[in-house]
Amino acid sequence: MLRQYELVERVLAYEPEADEAMLNRAYVYTVQKHGSQKRASGDPYFSHPVEVAGLMTELQLDQETIVTALLHDTVEDTLATIADIEKLFGPDVARLVDGVTKLSKIEAMGETERAAENLRKFFLAMSEDIRVLLVKLADRLHNMRTLHFIRSEEKRRRIAHETMDIYAPLAERVGMYEYMREMQLLAFEQLEPEAYATITGRLAQIRSSEGGQVDAIALSIKQALAEAGLKVEVSGREKHPYSIWKKMAERHVSFEQITDIMAFRVLTETVEDCYRALGVLHQTWQMIPGRFKDYISTPKSNGYRSLHTALIFENSMRMEVQIRTQEMHHTNEFGLAAHWAYKQHERPDGQVGWLRDLIEIVDASHDAEELLEHTKLAIYQDRIFAFTPKGQLLQLPKGSTPIDFAYAVHSDLGSLAVGAKINGRHMPLRTPLGNGDVVEIIKSRNASPQLSWLGFVVTGKARAAIRRAVRQKEKQEVAAIGRMLFDEIAERLPSKIGKKAVKDAVKRLELASEEELMVAIGSAKLDDRQVMEALVPGSAKDLPEPERWPRQERAISIRGLTPGVAFHLGACCHPVPGDRIVGIRMPGKGVEVHAIDCMTLASGVDADWLDLSWGERTTGAVGRVRVVLHNRPGTLAEATGIFAGNRANIIHLENTSRDELFGTYEIDLEVSDLAHLTRIVSALRASDAVAQADRV
Ligand code: MN
Repeated sequence: MLRQYELVERVLAYEPEADEAMLNRAYVYTVQKHGSQKRASGDPYFSHPVEVAGLMTELQLDQETIVTALLHDTVEDTLATIADIEKLFGPDVARLVDGVTKLSKIEAMGETERAAENLRKFFLAMSEDIRVLLVKLADRLHNMRTLHFIRSEEKRRRIAHETMDIYAPLAERVGMYEYMREMQLLAFEQLEPEAYATITGRLAQIRSSEGGQVDAIALSIKQALAEAGLKVEVSGREKHPYSIWKKMAERHVSFEQITDIMAFRVLTETVEDCYRALGVLHQTWQMIPGRFKDYISTPKSNGYRSLHTALIFENSMRMEVQIRTQEMHHTNEFGLAAHWAYKQHERPDGQVGWLRDLIEIVDASHDAEELLEHTKLAIYQDRIFAFTPKGQLLQLPKGSTPIDFAYAVHSDLGSLAVGAKINGRHMPLRTPLGNGDVVEIIKSRNASPQLSWLGFVVTGKARAAIRRAVRQKEKQEVAAIGRMLFDEIAERLPSKIGKKAVKDAVKRLELASEEELMVAIGSAKLDDRQVMEALVPGSAKDLPEPERWPRQERAISIRGLTPGVAFHLGACCHPVPGDRIVGIRMPGKGVEVHAIDCMTLASGVDADWLDLSWGERTTGAVGRVRVVLHNRPGTLAEATGIFAGNRANIIHLENTSRDELFGTYEIDLEVSDLAHLTRIVSALRASDAVAQADRV
């Protein structure tokens, strides 16, 4: 076990500015807290955190990570609390220790809850700060190294399985091949003891019978390259038993059939030398076609860079050769850890940068082979993880927006959303979320879902909720209009209409409810005669046929005005017959007629209000509608076809906005009355071409 002063010296060797006192305090703290606890090996428990800290110094990680490694089991296994840690070691260390503790709790869960759910949480926790993951990987590596001390075979197998399924792939994902290989080897030994014994036995046999062959081949490679003037280091090794076994399993071959059990590594000084060395090797020995890979010009998603090739030597043995620079080699073996250790002093934003790196790497994973190899991690390639301000984690499909997020939290939150802050900044609701984003939804009690959201949401939940809400809102509007029309119709009947008559009418018309009746009237599915007949059978007999006036005879008349007084309809609200109206006297201009809910009136026109109503002659009124059309050929033609079919002249048409999905038009129509306008709006809404239609 590392002594206290040894550990401190190691850190100071690469980080002279490190807080020595804090490192010492952490060492003493873990020894005290774990006290007389013992490992399965019989060693004092604190030897474990100290060894994990030692592993972290090998990666030259910063002082906070070393301290975190020392403290990583104190909250889980002793009486220490996160609050204690924060008081003694500051908020950064406390946060990291908390992260590792959370991961350990996942580990402690039962077998069934494991798998995807835990992997997800694991991944999320990892996204928070990569140092949490590094400590956790080192923790696991040390536990694997000491796995054989655990007496229960079942427990050993469970831990080995977990290592193989979760930790080794994660180590690979962040490019820590050293950790990955050692974990795999130790887990393999546990999970497939017979195969492990056979393969290691065969390897030992080869070693003794062909003694020194690895060294001999390494030497001939080095000589060949030296003759070409290249200064290189060459090392050779047998492939590790787990990769041999994997190859046997994947390719269904026997040990004898695996010819390339040796691998050589050529380390050069420059990138140029890598390619020169490759040329020399290909000239000297026969290359095996299809095995050459250039990960220097196209690095793997985790940053791995190297040239790979396979050669056939004199004795027809096949060898794998990797060629890379010294610098690449270091980065390859410790992946992001090395990258981080190297870069940490350059970035004031520390872990934010880390997170970005990690996300970039995960995002850039396009190597299909690599993804297939670790399908469990691949699940997350099309996912993003975002946080609520309170720290709740949500998993969403890639491309999800704040609206998807809001609906995922709660359908009410989605419906009331009016804005969003992503990582504290106001952003448009259509912004695609990134991994690790903190999303705050701004809501308003009066807000309602917008149809245009359908153009960018990606989750089914949001899509369905928006459709439902928009339909509901439209239905309410139609029902309200229907109610108005109904009241008008009812007035025309000779006797007062009571609740019972309405109920009977609903029944007669085979509708489900009174609301359905209003919707049917509002959407012009029922005309006046049908409604009258349903209310009072026989009452529509005397009613003149519809369209009794030829168009040209129509004009507008308004009751409540002195005959002959000039009037015009407000251009602001476009009242149409059926609207409640008032008049305002305009000096020298006569009377201006407004809908009673016109905004011009609300803004405080201090004038005589004349109580007006529509007269018998009602045409020439202009109603304004706003229509959102799907942006594809023919939709506008279909909309204008609807106007023509409803005998409404288009007075004015204006395209107010347009994007790749929708075009919005404001259209002024000559209509006879509110019912006419309502029919048109309903017909528009029923059309495939139309995304949304409203009276303005
Ligand atoms: Mn531990």
